[in-house]
Amino acid sequence: PSTNGLRHTAGVFADVQQRDPHQRWFHQAVHEVLESLEPVLDRHPEYGHAQVLERLCEPERQITFRVPWTDDAGTVQVNRGFRIEFNSSLGPYKGGLRFHPTVDLDTVKFLGFEQVFKNALTGLPLGGGKGGSDFDPKGKSDGEIMRFCQSFMTELHRHLGDRTDVPAGDIGVGQREIGYLFGQYKRITNRFESGVLTGKGLHWGGSELRAEATGYGLVHFVQEMLHARGTELDGRNVVVSGSGNVAIYATRKLHQLGATVVAMSDSTGYLVAESGIDVDLVEEIKSSRSGRLDEYPARGGRAEHVTGGSVWDVPCSVALPCATQNELDADGAAALVRGGTIAVAEGANMPTTPDALAVLSEAGVAFGPGKAANAGGVATSGLEMQQNAALDAWDRDYIDKRLADIMADIHTTCQQTAEAFGAPGNYVLGANAAGFRKVAGAMLDQGV
Ligand code: GLU
Repeated sequence: PSTNGLRHTAGVFADVQQRDPHQRWFHQAVHEVLESLEPVLDRHPEYGHAQVLERLCEPERQITFRVPWTDDAGTVQVNRGFRIEFNSSLGPYKGGLRFHPTVDLDTVKFLGFEQVFKNALTGLPLGGGKGGSDFDPKGKSDGEIMRFCQSFMTELHRHLGDRTDVPAGDIGVGQREIGYLFGQYKRITNRFESGVLTGKGLHWGGSELRAEATGYGLVHFVQEMLHARGTELDGRNVVVSGSGNVAIYATRKLHQLGATVVAMSDSTGYLVAESGIDVDLVEEIKSSRSGRLDEYPARGGRAEHVTGGSVWDVPCSVALPCATQNELDADGAAALVRGGTIAVAEGANMPTTPDALAVLSEAGVAFGPGKAANAGGVATSGLEMQQNAALDAWDRDYIDKRLADIMADIHTTCQQTAEAFGAPGNYVLGANAAGFRKVAGAMLDQGV
């Protein structure tokens, strides 16, 4: 093989690092993609024309803004808001908002970059973007959340539009926050523009199954991965990290399909239950004010709450990291291999470190990257936008079928693309190469 692809991607990566030397997460995300693209550029140098790679790694627009709001004590607080409009070659910028104290420009840039490829894989006309704030919703009152969301939208609204940029939720942003954000957008613009946000309430333009979609879609994808290896989920033990929206609905779907979720986690530690986690109880705890998983045993749940070690120490045949970035490191991956894990799929965005991925690949563990495996959420957002544009509301069965088909298509695309590049079973290469070809093709068509 020629080394043109390698030379090209290495040069682009060096420029990315030099331009923003401190953005480690962004570099990690870009590096993983560029590495996969070496064989693509070797075979199709035309995809590297007109500085497509260089343009792909630089967001079209980066917005940073002040978010002042008043807390319940009457004190004015100031947070920072972000929206990265990364790439619009396939459609309006699309991607969630994350409210978490760790959010900074690096975080939203890596998430926006990932979103571009993920959205391309869905096959729907969606560009990529991401946003959020370093606001910490933990322990805030409903009134504080509302005032924060209103202030956030007071600036953000001028950058949005149902054909321009369409945010949704992510960590710390659910249907309640989308409601407050939408209310403020409507107040300012005097437009009931339902397609400007997704993840809305069912009675005002939201879609059936949007809340469930990321978790359900993830399990559909894992099922496809196992089928490709001639096996399936039924009867298998699964470890799901996290206990937010993605983890909860993934667990529900796994239990429906006859698998047993034997562990879940949050910042207090993790629960282990041989006979399966009671997901109703987890949901009840997580929606209560304290929201701490260590209350599970005291609330009558049959599980052990563990504070030492890591959730990956629990033996399982399938592991689904559904909490946050870089949560599964090399030690965690080695523990999974020891515990007999045959498949890992990412419900969160970039939860697996590059070292961990190397350990899993070496051991022959099937690995579904988030861009493919967790795309069900944004895909269903795309379906919500279609319903909004048509002033229509589709029924649950229809959306369920569309979601299952989209996840199966993504799986097939990744599998076939990996095979075409001589790396059967390499879903990372398959997802990155397939997403890239779509976006790069559109960028070349549309000119510089
Ligand atoms: N935050 C989700 C993701 O990471 C969903 C984005 C959306 O629906 O726009 O894909």
